[in-house]
Amino acid sequence: MTSYLLLSLGLVLVALVVATVGTLLLAQLRALIAQKQAQSISLQKLKTELLTAEKAQKKAETSGNVWNGVRKFSVIKKVPETNDATSFYLAPHDKKPLPPFKPGQYLTFELDIPNQKKKTIRCYSLSDAILPDYYRVTIKRCPPSKPEHPAGLASNFFHDSIHEGSILDVKAPGGHFFLDTNKQSPVVLISGGVGITPCLSMMNEIIQSGSRREIWWFYGVRHGAEHIMKEHVAAMAAKYSNIYLHVCYSNPTADDKLGQDYQHQGRVGVDLFKELLPSSNFDYYMCGPGPMMESVVKGLADWGVPDDRVHYEAFGPASVKKAAPVAAVAAEAGAKQPMITFAKSGKTVAWNPTAENLLAFADSQGVAIASGCCAGQCGTCVTAIRSGDVTYAQAPGSKPEPGSCLACVAAPKGDVTLDA
Ligand SMILES: Cc1cc2nc3c(=O)[nH]c(=O)nc-3n(C[C@H](O)[C@H](O)[C@H](O)COP(=O)(O)OP(=O)(O)OC[C@H]3O[C@@H](n4cnc5c(N)ncnc54)[C@H](O)[C@@H]3O)c2cc1C
Repeated sequence: MTSYLLLSLGLVLVALVVATVGTLLLAQLRALIAQKQAQSISLQKLKTELLTAEKAQKKAETSGNVWNGVRKFSVIKKVPETNDATSFYLAPHDKKPLPPFKPGQYLTFELDIPNQKKKTIRCYSLSDAILPDYYRVTIKRCPPSKPEHPAGLASNFFHDSIHEGSILDVKAPGGHFFLDTNKQSPVVLISGGVGITPCLSMMNEIIQSGSRREIWWFYGVRHGAEHIMKEHVAAMAAKYSNIYLHVCYSNPTADDKLGQDYQHQGRVGVDLFKELLPSSNFDYYMCGPGPMMESVVKGLADWGVPDDRVHYEAFGPASVKKAAPVAAVAAEAGAKQPMITFAKSGKTVAWNPTAENLLAFADSQGVAIASGCCAGQCGTCVTAIRSGDVTYAQAPGSKPEPGSCLACVAAPKGDVTLDA
C-alpha cells in the first residue's frame, strides 16, 4: 500500500515536472515564434519603407523640377524654323531623367557670352510637349531696337555661337503661365510672333497626351517669312478635328496666299473671336507683343470674360497691367510720393510714378541692381526689403522669398527701404 502510494506520488511528481517543463518549453516556443513574427513584421515594414522611399526617389527624379541652381544641358539638335527663328533641342548632360514641366513654362539660361563681365540671364519658353528625351526652346533673333543700338545679345549668341554639342547652364522649368492639363474644357490659344512658343507646347501636349480637348488657335504675324512652325501646326490642324486654326497676316507679301498660308488679313483681336467662336466661354492663353496683349485683354474683359479665365505672359517688361500700382494711383490723386531708400547706396529719393518699376527707378538714381529678364521671371533682380512693402502689376513668375522683391516688376506700396 505504502509503495503504491509512493509510486502514485512519484508519478504525480513526474507528471507535474513534465507539465511544468512542457509549459515552459511551450512558452519559450511561443515567445520564439512571436519574436520571429515580430522580426518578420519589422523586416516587412523595413522592406515596405525602403520600397516607398525608392518610389519617392524615382518619382522625385522623374516628376518634380528636381534640380536647384543650374544643370548642364547638351544641345543635341539645332533646327532653323524661319530666317530668324531657330529651335534648340536640349538633353541633360548627366544623362539622368528629365523632369516633366507644365506646358507654357520656360527655362532660364545662364550664358557665358564673350566680352560680357557677368553671366547673361535669359528665359526661353519650352516649345514642345512633355517628352522624356529632350527639352526644346525656339529662339528668335532680336534685332536692334534702333540703328544705333546693338542687336539682341543672347538671342544672336544662340544663333551664331550655340551649335550641336554646345553645353549650356540651365535652371529648372518655371513660371506661372501654363495650361491646366487636368481640365478638358475648350481653350483659345492666342499668339503673336515668337509668342507662339508656349502655345506650341500647349497644343503639342494636348495632342500627345491623347486629349481631344477643343483648341481654337489664333496666331498673328506680319507675313509668311515670320510664320514659325507653319507646316507642323497646319498638319496638326488638318489631322485633328479638335484644332481650329486661324492665322492672321497683318502685312502679307505677294508670295503669301490667303486661304492657303493664312486665313485672315489683319491683326488678331477680339472682333475676330466674336465672329468665329461659338461663345466667349473658354479659357484663354495668350503670349505676344505688348500692344496685342493689351488690346486683347481689354477686349475680353469688355466681352464679359472673367479675369481668371484669361492667362497671359509677356516676353519683355510686362505691358498688360491688371491693376494700377498703388504708387501710380497716388500720383493721380496728386498725393505725396513714397520715399525710396537705397540703404547700401545711402540714398533716399521720392518715387517717380512714371518709373516702370523699382529696378528702372534704381537705375535712374545710379543704383545698380543686377537684372536678367526684366519680366519678373528669372529672379536675378531679387532685392531684400528692409522696411515697407511693394506691389506687383502682374504676379511674378517665381515668387521671391518673403521680405524680398523682384525689383524689375515691383512698385512701392508706400515708403520702402531696399537693401541696394
Ligand atoms: C518668360 C519668358 C519667355 C520667353 N520665351 C522666349 C521664346 O520662347 N523665344 C524667344 O525668342 N524669346 C523669348 N523670350 C525673350 C528672351 O528672353 C529675350 O528677352 C530675347 O531673346 C531678347 O534678348 P537678347 O539678349 O537677344 O536681347 P537684349 O540684348 O536683351 O536686347 C533687347 C533689345 O534691346 C535693345 N538694346 C540693346 N542695348 C540697348 C540700349 N543701350 N538702349 C536701348 N535699347 C537697347 C536691343 O537692340 C534689342 O532690340 C522670353 C522672355 C521671357 C521673360
